[in-house]
Amino acid sequence: MIEETLLLYKNIRNPDYDKSLRGYKASGGYSALKKVLKKKPEELVELVKTSGLRGRGGAGFPTGLKWSFMERNTGKRSYLICNADESEPGTCKDRELMLKDPHQFLEGMIIGCYAINCTHGYIYVRGEYAPSIKSLNEAIDELYKEKILGEKVMGSRFKLDLTVHPGAGAYICGEETALLDSIEGKRGHPRVKPPFPAVSGFNSCPTTVNNVETLTCLPFIVNEGAEAFASFGPPNNSGTHLVSLSGHVSNPGVYEVRMDVSLRDIIYDLGGGISEGKALKGVIPGGASSPVLTAEEIDVEYSFDALAKAGTMMGSAAIMVFDEDTDVVKLLHRITRFFNHESCGQCTPCREGTHWARLILRDFLDENGNQKKLRRLSKVGGNMMGTTVCALGDAAGMPITSFVQKFPLDFEKHYAQAA
Ligand code: SF4
Repeated sequence: MIEETLLLYKNIRNPDYDKSLRGYKASGGYSALKKVLKKKPEELVELVKTSGLRGRGGAGFPTGLKWSFMERNTGKRSYLICNADESEPGTCKDRELMLKDPHQFLEGMIIGCYAINCTHGYIYVRGEYAPSIKSLNEAIDELYKEKILGEKVMGSRFKLDLTVHPGAGAYICGEETALLDSIEGKRGHPRVKPPFPAVSGFNSCPTTVNNVETLTCLPFIVNEGAEAFASFGPPNNSGTHLVSLSGHVSNPGVYEVRMDVSLRDIIYDLGGGISEGKALKGVIPGGASSPVLTAEEIDVEYSFDALAKAGTMMGSAAIMVFDEDTDVVKLLHRITRFFNHESCGQCTPCREGTHWARLILRDFLDENGNQKKLRRLSKVGGNMMGTTVCALGDAAGMPITSFVQKFPLDFEKHYAQAA
C-alpha cells in the first residue's frame, strides 16, 4: 500500500496551514531565498543540474541545462516566464499550488529569476483560473510590502518585479513560443525554432520558460540539497511528482508521489480502485496527448523513463482512467475534437489532419465505420506526427494511432452492418 510523499504538498495537506506570507514564513518559507542571495547565479544553475530536476510541464527537459542555454552578457534583458497555462485535459495540479500555497511557488519563481539574472519575471496563468490569479496577486502584494520584491530583494543588490499575466483560454498558448507571442500582445502562434527562446524569446531577448511545479521544487532543492531531491526517484528521474488522477476511480484528486511507484499503485492505492467495482479498461497516463495503455500495461513505474520505455509518456502527469463500459471511439472522438478546435491552423497536417480524423470518428459513432476507414484514420494520425511546427500535431496523432492499435475491437463494434 503506497502513501503520498510530501515535499511540495506538505503545507497543502496541513488543514491548519495559513497560506499568507506570515503563515508561509512560519513554516520555514523564504529561508531558501535568503541562502540563494549569498550564492552566485552560476552556482545555482550547477545545483539544479546536479539535482536532476526535469521540467514538470510536459517535455521533462532538465531544468538546470535549460538555464545554462541562456545567453549571458548580450546587453539585452533576460526573462523568466512561468508557464502556468495548464490546459492539457485532465491536468489540475499547478492550479492547486498557485491557489493553496502561492508563496512556495513564488519563492521558487524568485530563485529561478535570480539564477538567470532576470529582473522582471512574468507568470502566464490560464485565464479560467480566476481564484489562482487572485491568490497570486495577493501574495505578490505582500511580497512588495515586505520588500521581498522590488528594488532590493531582502536587502540585497538583486532587483525583481513580478507580473501575473492572465491568458485568454487558448490551449495552444501553453506551447512556450505561442505563449511568448501571446504575452507580447499578439495572437498565440507557435514560432518556428530555431531560434530557441534562450537566444531570442520574449521581446527578442534571452528567455527561459518554466512550469509552476518545476519552479516550486526549487526551495526544497536549495534547503535540503541536490542529493536529497534526487533520492526520491530512480536515476535520471529525481524528486516527487504531482499527479492529477481523474476518471473512473473512487478517489480522484491531486497526489504527490515518488517516481518509483507504479501506475497500478497510484490507481488502486491512492485512487481507491475503479469506481462501482467495475473492471479497468485502459488508462491515459500523461494528459490527453499521451498514448493510451491497456489494463494489462499498468504495472509500469510512473517515471519519465519507464513510461517512455513502455511506449507512452508522463507528459503533464494527468492520469485519466476509464472502465470496462467506456466506448473508446466516443472517448477518442472527444479528444480529437478538442485538438481540432485548438489547432492554430498554420500547419496543414495538424489543421487538416485533426479535422478529417474527427469526421472519420464521427462516421464510426454514426455506426458507419469500416476497415478502410479505420486504416485511413490510423494513417491520418500517423501523418500528423513529426511534420508540424509545434508538438500539437504529435499530441493529436499519438492518441489516434495508439487507440486504433490497442482497441481495434471497439472500433469494429461501430462498423456499418453491410460492411
Ligand atoms: Fe498550429 Fe497545429 Fe502547427 Fe502547432 S502543429 S503550429 S497548433 S497548426
